[in-house]
Amino acid sequence: MKKKIAIIGSGVAGLVLGNLFKKNSEFECVIYEKDTKLNLEEGFGIQLGVNSVNILNKIGFAQIKKNEKFFPSKLNFCLMNDDKICDLNISQFNTNTSKYTTLKRSTLIKFLKEQLLSDSIIFNKKINNIKKFDHKINISFDDGSKDDFDYLIVSDGIFSHTKSIVEKDNYKANFNNSVAIRAFIKDKNMGKIDRDNISILMGSNAHIVFYPINEQKHFNLVCIIRQKLNLNSFNRLKDLDFIKLILKNTILKENNNLLYLLEEDLKCWPIYNSRKIVKPAYNNIFYVGDALYAFLPTMAQGAAQSIEAANELFELIINDKKDIQNEYLKNRIIRTNLVNQRSKLNYFIFHLSNPFLKILRNKILKLFVKNKIFINNYLGKIYK
Ligand SMILES: Cc1cc2nc3c(=O)[nH]c(=O)nc-3n(C[C@H](O)[C@H](O)[C@H](O)COP(=O)(O)OP(=O)(O)OC[C@H]3O[C@@H](n4cnc5c(N)ncnc54)[C@H](O)[C@@H]3O)c2cc1C
Repeated sequence: MKKKIAIIGSGVAGLVLGNLFKKNSEFECVIYEKDTKLNLEEGFGIQLGVNSVNILNKIGFAQIKKNEKFFPSKLNFCLMNDDKICDLNISQFNTNTSKYTTLKRSTLIKFLKEQLLSDSIIFNKKINNIKKFDHKINISFDDGSKDDFDYLIVSDGIFSHTKSIVEKDNYKANFNNSVAIRAFIKDKNMGKIDRDNISILMGSNAHIVFYPINEQKHFNLVCIIRQKLNLNSFNRLKDLDFIKLILKNTILKENNNLLYLLEEDLKCWPIYNSRKIVKPAYNNIFYVGDALYAFLPTMAQGAAQSIEAANELFELIINDKKDIQNEYLKNRIIRTNLVNQRSKLNYFIFHLSNPFLKILRNKILKLFVKNKIFINNYLGKIYK
């Protein structure tokens, strides 16, 4: 008899898992999504490290049209006023088939959805209770329906409601006292910014990441800004005037060339990260992606780690390993610690405000980008 798998949440993690299990006839796998549809309109970008492209290639990622993605080869480190400090060759980790890739997040989601059968995702479904009996999990949904599964894979994001139900605890993420402001940019005069690569502009308590997301040269721009928020200002993050005010008080004080941002369709989110990895209460329940651990975005590895985790779990399940839970967590904890340390260090380095420390940082960066041993250790271990 086929083993039944319930995947909760159709973000990158859930969709990659669905695609991996699709070809395996020993499993019947359904994705349950709380929303009524996938968001395929969104223009924002996503960077995919080679570690995740390697895995996505197993499910046909290379088929995405060439003009819908971009392969940057350099990471430029710049001051907030656009002056370049140095650059790092990120294509050194590419292989013939897997390249560091940037694209629209919606292009990735559309690709992952199109590979699945139409009945693989059930929308408008949310778990409200879970019971374990024998080796199975009985799931009750909000709409009153129930079903039994051999495995439950939870990939419903950083605020995982399902994880709180399983663990009978209210899991709260950590607000990082910063916000992300994003814009999708077309055909602008963007001063000295390199339009063919990724650029990081570092200012005081803020940095900007800028990169092309396709061959038509549409760009993703994301500003990460340290920002303490009280309840009232939290509620104002959807208010365009408030978002503009944050920009005027921070980034725009350091770079007038970015005034065009005030005319863009800006979106703003508070930035959260996870406190710790939780071992699920039952052995046949697994947390994947942001539901397992959400990183600061300063290593651009959140989705990549979700894809890695999905692939590791898939391999352990199809190979019918004895102690899947511990095997899965053992490797995930090592990878999470590695990415987490670097994400936090990057966050600190990108946001320095002390002028002396900034000069020191810039000198060290110039040395480190050329040091193969350092780069292999700092990035190679992640992109391996
Ligand atoms: C500013 C910023 C920039 C980033 N840039 C990058 C980048 O360039 N590269 C990168 O690798 N990562 C990046 N990340 C991180 C990346 O976006 C996330 O790590 C990744 O999207 C997590 O995927 P996920 O599938 O685990 O969760 P999500 O994408 O959050 O998906 C969760 C899904 O579950 C659904 N859901 C929620 N609750 C329920 C429920 N109760 N029942 C059913 N369904 C539910 C949601 O609707 C959603 O569809 C960035 C993050 C931020 C904040």
